Amino acid sequence: MAKIDVNLSAREKNDLLAGENREQFKGIRVFNMIGSPGAGKTALLEAAASRFGSRMAVIEGDVKTDFDAERIRKNGSHAVQIETGGGCHLNAGMVQGAFKELDTDGIDVLIIENVGNLVCPSSYDLGEMAKIAVTSTPEGDEKPAKYPALFIRAEIVVINKIDLADILDYDIERVKNDCRKLNPDALIFEVSAKTGEGMDALLDHLEGTA
Ligand code: MG
Ligand code: ZN
Repeated sequence: MAKIDVNLSAREKNDLLAGENREQFKGIRVFNMIGSPGAGKTALLEAAASRFGSRMAVIEGDVKTDFDAERIRKNGSHAVQIETGGGCHLNAGMVQGAFKELDTDGIDVLIIENVGNLVCPSSYDLGEMAKIAVTSTPEGDEKPAKYPALFIRAEIVVINKIDLADILDYDIERVKNDCRKLNPDALIFEVSAKTGEGMDALLDHLEGTA
């Protein structure tokens, strides 16, 4: 960690450390995954772990517990848990500390699962290559319109639990249109981590083969 001028604002310190992270991440495809609690972020990562195995590492951010890191390890990938102890988002310093604990030999993909929260995580750069916004059908189809900051910044949008769309009267086209209005370049994936539908296209993209 670099020596940091005490007069810098919290945001400036974060951006400095995010720049250091970006240097350290060289050669690894790093994603910052952001979504509400219960959107299925960890379920998506379990599916990714089943495919990528030891080539993937996950940094898990939660307020409390290491339940999610344990779920990733059970599916064959490396995982380090950050407990924020109340903090509602990850910052670049927390990620830098967690990254030091990882053995990055043979790691091609690193996914940082942010604390479940649609609001502030999107405004902290962690040094990632791209942000992934995860939204899911039980949350309702108005979420991108209501929480635009994340969807403006996310290069990738994952609509999860599409197997429930009909039952929940979830309007996928509305969500896609709202997302495109906020970020015309965003790549949108419709998936179900549970049934596996759409997962190959998403994972190909994360791996860089699509
Ligand atoms: Mg989780
Ligand atoms: Zn926060």
